[in-house]
Parts: sequence; structure tokens; C-alpha cells
Amino acid sequence: MKTDLLYERERISTLKNYNILDTLSEIEYDDITKIASLVCNTPIALISLIDTNRQFFKSRQGLDITETPREHSFCAMAIQKPEEIMIVADSRKDVRFMNNPMVTGDPHVIFYAGVPLVNADGYALGSLCVIDNKPNNLNQQQIDVLKSLGRQVMNLLELRKKTRLLLESKKELKVLAKEMESFARVASHDLKEPLRMIKSFLKLFEDKYSKNLENNAKKYIDIALDGANRLDILITDLLEFSVAGKNINDIKEIDVGEIIEDVKKLLSLEIKEHQAIINYSELPKIKISETAIRQILQNLISNAIKYQNKDSKPIITITGRETNTHWEFSVRDNGIGIDKEYLESIFTIFKRLHRKEEFPGTGIGLAICKKIVGQYGGEIRVESEEGKGSTFYFNISKFVNT
Ligand code: ADP
Repeated sequence: MKTDLLYERERISTLKNYNILDTLSEIEYDDITKIASLVCNTPIALISLIDTNRQFFKSRQGLDITETPREHSFCAMAIQKPEEIMIVADSRKDVRFMNNPMVTGDPHVIFYAGVPLVNADGYALGSLCVIDNKPNNLNQQQIDVLKSLGRQVMNLLELRKKTRLLLESKKELKVLAKEMESFARVASHDLKEPLRMIKSFLKLFEDKYSKNLENNAKKYIDIALDGANRLDILITDLLEFSVAGKNINDIKEIDVGEIIEDVKKLLSLEIKEHQAIINYSELPKIKISETAIRQILQNLISNAIKYQNKDSKPIITITGRETNTHWEFSVRDNGIGIDKEYLESIFTIFKRLHRKEEFPGTGIGLAICKKIVGQYGGEIRVESEEGKGSTFYFNISKFVNT
């Protein structure tokens, strides 16, 4: 059982958490007091929040002041029984209030009815009340409406708190993402230099001494060089991931067909080695940064060439179309396909389904595609049948905020 003092301390800190005290009037709250005063037929209606030493009026009809001391507050009394509505038909006849300056002087609170505003944890934060300067009363219907309106005030307060928390976490997430990105950028930059040194000295060593080395020693150097090369690719990919989609300000009109031709040149060795065929018909012109669309297509096309059964020739088909809101593309291959279980997780950074001996890679390419597409208000997904091939679909929003 909580002591009154502890309950009150917790109640005040709960109230402060809603960040509502001393805020300006808002139409949503004013609408509620307007309806309350109309339905209950009283000149005054208030949303009163009980602070340590005062009551603050978040909304008020028929009253000019924004707060009064707590010691004279009817609402402070009303919240002592959070589950009940407090009705005082004629305060001049009620010993609890007859000498209250709010009764004897302005604003002459003669009739009072207040519904406590109670949150889900049971803390009464204040009340929605109606006031008259003459004796009055409420029928059951009016009481019911006032209680419903009280619940709506509470809903507004909860919504306000949730929106604030959401905005705060969004801000925190943004800061964290920025930190992560700059960490990845700095780390990969700093790692590149010593790695370059290791690679060049290993090479130097190999060139100079391999003649005099026994076979095992040569093998060890080759393994070390292979490891250093893979680390180099990993760092380059990580760096690419950390800056992916950052060129959102370089948006211009791009002919996607031209980008595919560029990518074909870049991948000419792989295309030749696997005898890959790349088909595409007319593709829409889109607005995007050139680097971004090249990165997406290069990753998808190089995967389509790479993830093939030995001896089979990759046939890759790229399509594109325009909708009212997006440009949509697909990249289809006739490769090994993907197990249904992994259709979503392959877009997570470092997720790979094969050993490096089977298919080399870092598991970063699709994460880069997903990040870029996300920056351009789009999505990426894959449909696949194992043994038959995969189709990657992605779209780009036409209305990206730059
Ligand atoms: P990487 O190719 O470097 O491993 P990606 O992020 O590009 O990294 O791809 C992640 C994983 O998704 C790959 O390791 C592979 O298992 C699977 N994958 C990607 N593209 C295809 C494809 N076209 N066909 C089959 N599997 C694919």
C-alpha cells in the first residue's frame, strides 16, 4: 500500500511526464470544454491539471485566468476519489467550500461537477469540470457525456506523450545511425592504410625470396595474401555501405539503359568468363543519383552472374516501368535460386548463404541495395525458386525529399 505522500510524488512526476503544464491552448482540448459546457448547460468548463501548488488550466471556457492556487481548488479535491465524479450542487451550503475565496469571490463557483482524469496506471492528473455561478445539477445523461469527454481528454494526453516519445526515439536513432556510419567510415579508412602496407610487403617478400623458399612457405604466403585481399574487399564494401545513399542531393535524370551498359563494361570480365547474356527492353528515365542506381544494378547483376550452377550460362533479364508514384524494376536470373527461409534475411548486412569457397563475397551487396532504395523512398524484395532462379524487385519513389 502506497502512502499518500509517495502516491502524490509519483502522481506529480507522472503529470510532468506528459509535458502538458504551461503549454498554450489547443483546439482539440478547447473543443472538449466547449462541448462539456454546452451539454451541461454551464457558463464555465475547464480542463484542470493539478500541479504541486497550483491548478493549471489546459483549456478553459468562460474563465480568463490560466491557473489558481491548489489550496482553493475544487478539482484538487475531486481527484482524491479518482473513480468518482464530484458534484457540488450549491457550494454555499457545503461546509467544505462555503468559505473558499473562489466561492465567496470571483469566479463564484456555486455549482461544480468534475470528472477526474485518470491514466492507465491509476494516477489522477486533474479533472474535466463544469462550473456555474448559480446552483445547478446534472442528469444521468449529462454525467455520462462528461465522463466520456474526460476519457477523450485522457486519450489526447496519451497521444501527446506517445508522439513525443516517438519523436525522441526517432531523434536518438538518427544520432546513433550517424555515429555508426562515421565509425564505419573512419574505421575502414584507417584500416586501409596498414592493410596496404601488409599487402605490399607480402608481395615484396614473395617476389624477392620465393625462389629460395620451400613449397610450404610459398603456400603460407599465398594464404596470407589471399586473406589480405579478402580483407581489402571487405573494407571497401563496408566503406561503400557506410556512404550508400548519401548522394541523395545529386539527383538528376538518368537513362537506366545507359547505366546498364556502364555496368556491363565494369563486369566485362565476369560476363565473358560465364558467357552471360543480359537482356533489357525499353526502360524508363528516372530521377536519382547516378552512383546510387549504378550501385544497385551492379550488385544485382553481379550476383545474378555469380550465383549460378557450374557450367550453366547466366541469362539475365531486366525490366522497368513507371507508376504514378514510383519507378519499378526487376532483375531476373536463371541461377541457383534462394531457399524460401532466407528471402528476407539476405538483405541484412553480412548475411551469406554459401561458403567463400563455393561463392566468394562479403554479404554486404544486398544490404547496400536495401539502404539506397530506402533512402529513395522505395523497397527491395526477391522471389525465387531453388534451382530455377531468382527475381529481385526494387522501386524508387518519384517524390524523394532532398
Ligand atoms: P555477397 O554476394 O557478397 O555474399 P550479397 O549481400 O550481395 O552478398 O548477397 C547476400 C546473399 O544472398 C549471398 O551470399 C547469396 O547467398 C544470396 N544471393 C544474392 N543474390 C543472389 C542470386 N541472384 N541468386 C541466388 N542467391 C543470391
